[in-house]
Amino acid sequence: MLSEFDLIARYFTRTPRRSDTTVLGVGDDCALLAPPPGAQLAISSDMLVEGRHFFPGADPKALGHKSLAVNLSDLAAMGARPLGFTLALALPEAEPDWLAGFSAGLLALADLHGCELIGGDTTRGPLNICITVFGAVMPGQALRRDAARPGDDVWISGSLGDARLALAGYRQELALTPQELDEAAPRMHRPTPRVALGTALAGIAHAAIDISDGLAGDLGHILKRSGVGAELDADALPAGPVLARRDAALRREYTLAGGDDYELCFTAPTERREEVLAAALAAGTPVTRVGRIAAEPGLRLLDRDGRPLALQPTSFDHFSET
Ligand code: ADP
Ligand code: MG
Repeated sequence: MLSEFDLIARYFTRTPRRSDTTVLGVGDDCALLAPPPGAQLAISSDMLVEGRHFFPGADPKALGHKSLAVNLSDLAAMGARPLGFTLALALPEAEPDWLAGFSAGLLALADLHGCELIGGDTTRGPLNICITVFGAVMPGQALRRDAARPGDDVWISGSLGDARLALAGYRQELALTPQELDEAAPRMHRPTPRVALGTALAGIAHAAIDISDGLAGDLGHILKRSGVGAELDADALPAGPVLARRDAALRREYTLAGGDDYELCFTAPTERREEVLAAALAAGTPVTRVGRIAAEPGLRLLDRDGRPLALQPTSFDHFSET
């Protein structure tokens, strides 16, 4: 039987990779982080609860990846460079196979982004994973939700809707072929946080948000906080490769209101289009221009000919589901 301390030592303790940033990692009362001189700390937490954010029995390696990915996505949406993270874990039992898979998925993504596991807490209880990430951003460069301005372009990274399509397949809301599900499922289970793009956009873009609950709702947060509105070209939204093979109505619905994409939606002045494209190229992440910010509040959806659409996309909300 693994004790709490054996478990932490075996699965969550390593020699710090980045001794310049991690002055002291796992094992003391607190970790010590040294942010780069002059930087501001960007801090965010995200919790994943079994039965709510993932299916019971979910693959532990994918779960380790996703738990950190959703947190890194928040840093990306702020334009912040990852420094480190803490992990608060409630587990029903200390199951070595599960722990080995979970820590492998978690730490592989951590290494990919140079984001060190610096501490946490471990307790027995219903499976619950809470990560807090720490990032660095220079003063004035953070991509805040309140920074969109009338005239800005609205951009989207990558593609939208395949995570939602996979969920529809699992829930049998739609019939997917096994090949479609195989192709779409990684978008749901192993999201790619757009860290390189987010940090490349710091100082170029105005506002940004990561799309976790659906584009319409998440862009709505930018609009509200910035006191502006937007027009979106509903048919210009980049659909994921599997969704792209479906009909236009489903493409609109899932690109606008599908959750779990973890792409970035950001706004930038029109005169900085070339810089946005250069940042996307340098980050290796495609971006698509999908609309514009307007002074008049509200989100207006247009079809490919610029005619208004009477769609009312709803986004996901944990407390207002029926
Ligand atoms: P304390 O009693 O001070 O809260 P703990 O006994 O909970 O300390 O944890 C011991 C050390 O292990 C601390 O440095 C803590 O940050 C770290 N730790 C605990 N759980 C985890 C975890 N799941 N992942 C990484 N580090 C952890
Ligand atoms: Mg503790």
